[in-house]
Amino acid sequence: MSISLLVSAVLRYGDFFGGTLMGSRWSTKDTVSHLMDQARQGVAWLKERSSAPHLAVIIVGDDPASHVYVRRKVEACSELGVKSTRIDLPEDVTESEMLDEVKRLNQDDDVDGILVQLPLPSQVSANAVIEAIDPDKDVDGFHPVNVGRLALGQAGLFPCTPVGVMALMKQSLPELKGKHAVVIGRSAIVGKPMAHLLLHAHCSVTIIHSRTPNPQSICQLADIVVVAVGRPGLVDGSWLKPGAVVVDVGINEIKDKELARRLFGEDSKKYARFMRSGRALVGDVDYRSALGVAAWVTPVPGGVGRLTIAQLMLNCVTAAKRRLS
Ligand code: NAP
Repeated sequence: MSISLLVSAVLRYGDFFGGTLMGSRWSTKDTVSHLMDQARQGVAWLKERSSAPHLAVIIVGDDPASHVYVRRKVEACSELGVKSTRIDLPEDVTESEMLDEVKRLNQDDDVDGILVQLPLPSQVSANAVIEAIDPDKDVDGFHPVNVGRLALGQAGLFPCTPVGVMALMKQSLPELKGKHAVVIGRSAIVGKPMAHLLLHAHCSVTIIHSRTPNPQSICQLADIVVVAVGRPGLVDGSWLKPGAVVVDVGINEIKDKELARRLFGEDSKKYARFMRSGRALVGDVDYRSALGVAAWVTPVPGGVGRLTIAQLMLNCVTAAKRRLS
């Protein structure tokens, strides 16, 4: 960011939050460290009671992206001393074989958390598998019991990405109460739980989805915007109110040269890198354009993705502590 953009962003940030944010930080890196520290302390506490948390991860088939995600989760476990077991099942696994595996893990007293890496092959119903997981071992927070607990404001295990985003906002913004938050996307994994969490934090929440007319004009009213859509660069500066804070959850691989030119600018290092490799990872927000209007925008890569894994570690600790007590 240029100096003038940085200065104007800081001034807008201060204006929007009545000056109270001057000098405060908005850093995903700090929140990731904070969550990992909390998880580390939890693991130490559990180990003192001879009860180190144990995460079981089921992965089906050879989808490269799924393998990358699982590898990162297992690496985070070993960094924190969380025991992990990886169960690889073949692409042609049947639904009943998967349900048997989940049942076995439910009954295994040594296992605290069960995570089924999505997507699953078409012959297996993801809903059936998720519903088979013991809700108290459901570290992804996708089981209907945990969805209900979240909607009701009760304690439970909740989806890692939106909970991680809330941790970021609570750490970085002095006041969420009364803010108008717009969530773009209504998936069960991100959009809906995000909206519930913001509502519990006393925001006024609007959800935008693919059938919402004039999404841009609704978004322009928002103090806080969380985007989880899966459309590269959908939200640009023209969607935003000056001084809004923007969290970009989207992760998209782009290969289109024109899109890369629009998002990165022809003279940028990112565009040069794109031209060398023919691909790049971008979010749902046109970062350059949004930064000219918003107070803050989380980057992609290097933003929300790392929060998700840190929060997963914390969910494992929470599940292990609850089972112990
Ligand atoms: P999803 O299940 O495909 O849901 C996408 C949502 O976006 C849907 O609710 C859809 O509306 C809405 N949508 C689609 N096009 C739209 C448009 N033009 N305007 C407004 N809304 C639109 O996706 P997801 O699982 O929530 O993931 C969203 C993005 O976040 C993806 O890029 C994914 O890779 C990323 N993600 C990142 C993390 C992380 O750790 N950083 C975690 C999870 C997901 P309808 O419901 O009307 O179809």
